[in-house]
Amino acid sequence: MKKRRDFLKQIAGLGVLGLAAAGAIVGGEALLAREETPLRPPGAMPEHQFLALCIKCGQCLQVCPYDAIRLEDLNGKAGVGTAYIDPDKRGCYLCKALPCILACPSGALDHSIADDVRKVKMGVAVVANENACLALHNKPVPKSEKDLIYKHTTVLTPKEKREKRVYELPNPSEKRQLQVDLLKKVEQYVGKSCTICADLCPYPEPELAIGMVKKGSGYIPQIREKCVGCGACVELCPTDVLKIVPHKSYEEVYKKARV
Ligand code: SF4
Ligand code: SF4
Ligand code: SF4
Repeated sequence: MKKRRDFLKQIAGLGVLGLAAAGAIVGGEALLAREETPLRPPGAMPEHQFLALCIKCGQCLQVCPYDAIRLEDLNGKAGVGTAYIDPDKRGCYLCKALPCILACPSGALDHSIADDVRKVKMGVAVVANENACLALHNKPVPKSEKDLIYKHTTVLTPKEKREKRVYELPNPSEKRQLQVDLLKKVEQYVGKSCTICADLCPYPEPELAIGMVKKGSGYIPQIREKCVGCGACVELCPTDVLKIVPHKSYEEVYKKARV
């Protein structure tokens, strides 16, 4: 939560005009009002309804193959056991069948959108710290990215984590396979140019959600209209450039900047 608080302080410091000028976001005050509202799982009803409907059963968490969903503890705002996602630790990867939604027995996660991940609306990504972007400065992805993805990959054995090496298992579970596939994709970028956020966005047509655009002698990510705020790019960015504004749409966050 500290990083998130810092980000929101940054928003307050910049002010709406500063953010618009930076091509970032608008609505700082409204966003600040949501400081303690975490990102909810895909399909979550509007916050007040979600809080009333979530029965804190943990079913969504149990079926998530990426272990993206967490349950609030005593420090949480909405009460012990309420489901949330911390994209700094693990984003959502928009599983095709949205098993988290289908597992929810109370309607807190809306079953009517489970047929298409394009209907998910968790929030929207913002470029919160453009200057830290490796692509802007043509810097390669550092080795620490490998450490990070190993840390986030929950299916590995202690030996695999220690040695930063994945061992082939004869019959890996689907969960292990998915997480290891992601790890391997990220690992390939170490020492190379960074386009991780744009390349690994799990939206079905990622170029509609995020793309790299030229800036000076480098590139920066540009968040686009179809971004659903899943937080995968936030988790995977090696230098903490991106953040999610939960519960906001692209229109609310970006289009106001142009008026
Ligand atoms: S869509 Fe998949 S990765 Fe995302 S929260 Fe649901 S089960 Fe987890
Ligand atoms: S840009 Fe892609 S990865 Fe990032 S939050 Fe949006 S949909 Fe998710
Ligand atoms: S993941 Fe994207 S935002 Fe982060 S350093 Fe790489 S190119 Fe820049």
